Amino acid sequence: MTLPALFLSHGAPTLPLTDTPARTFLQQAGSTLERPKAILVISAHWETDVPTVNAVERNDTIHDFGGFPRALYDMRYPAPGSPQLAAHIAELLRTAGFACNIDRKRGLDHGAWVPLLLMYPSADIPVLQLSVQTHLGPEHHLRVGRAIASLRQEGVLIVGSGSFTHDLSEFRGHDANDAAPDWVNGFADWVDSALTKGDTATLLDYRRNAPYAAKNHPTEEHLLPLYAALGAGGEAAEATRLHASSTYSVLRMDVYAFQPKSEQPQVKVA
Ligand code: ZN
Repeated sequence: MTLPALFLSHGAPTLPLTDTPARTFLQQAGSTLERPKAILVISAHWETDVPTVNAVERNDTIHDFGGFPRALYDMRYPAPGSPQLAAHIAELLRTAGFACNIDRKRGLDHGAWVPLLLMYPSADIPVLQLSVQTHLGPEHHLRVGRAIASLRQEGVLIVGSGSFTHDLSEFRGHDANDAAPDWVNGFADWVDSALTKGDTATLLDYRRNAPYAAKNHPTEEHLLPLYAALGAGGEAAEATRLHASSTYSVLRMDVYAFQPKSEQPQVKVA
């Protein structure tokens, strides 16, 4: 079994409570993929100095947000972890020349459990997280992704969880289904075009090349999981956009799959 690597936008923490096209998409996304043996989430909400993977028997649910409805704090996603797989991931990263730490306590932040609650509500597939290093930028995350790409052949679903656009200074005051402005869609269209063309060099320098790049990502942590997922798709990864929508006007909720064409299921012609 070879799975694609995914990038998904996790949106606001209220995603499970709010009827949006992105929620509907994620609710059916899990059943369209072959069931993974484990899931590795590279979440924007875990930032460390060096790549760090969590290794626990069972994940705590981290409610790493404030000021949201009580129902959200009552949600739990008690998926098992896998210390054995964590050790294997650390080994892959070290073999590729990265330092890698193992965290034996940390559970799942909302960048992981919010989308997984929708995709795999039973919480019965082992889930691990790998941290981002915001200060090291896109190329580092592309290389981290490539270092762990072989996990896909082992049945591990690699998920980069961030946000396609993420200017939170413009987030308040909007309703969940408000349309996105041009400066949000212009940036999203540019990234989509570069991904579709496979223009990785241009993508790596997105801050100089893309319209409204710094406006949509005042800090980079929510876009870096996209580069990790692209890398995890392998050197010859092709990008497929699985979903596009926006929420609260300024958050694009796009979802991509990355996988070489040679690995993708062949369409049989009758
Ligand atoms: Zn977030």
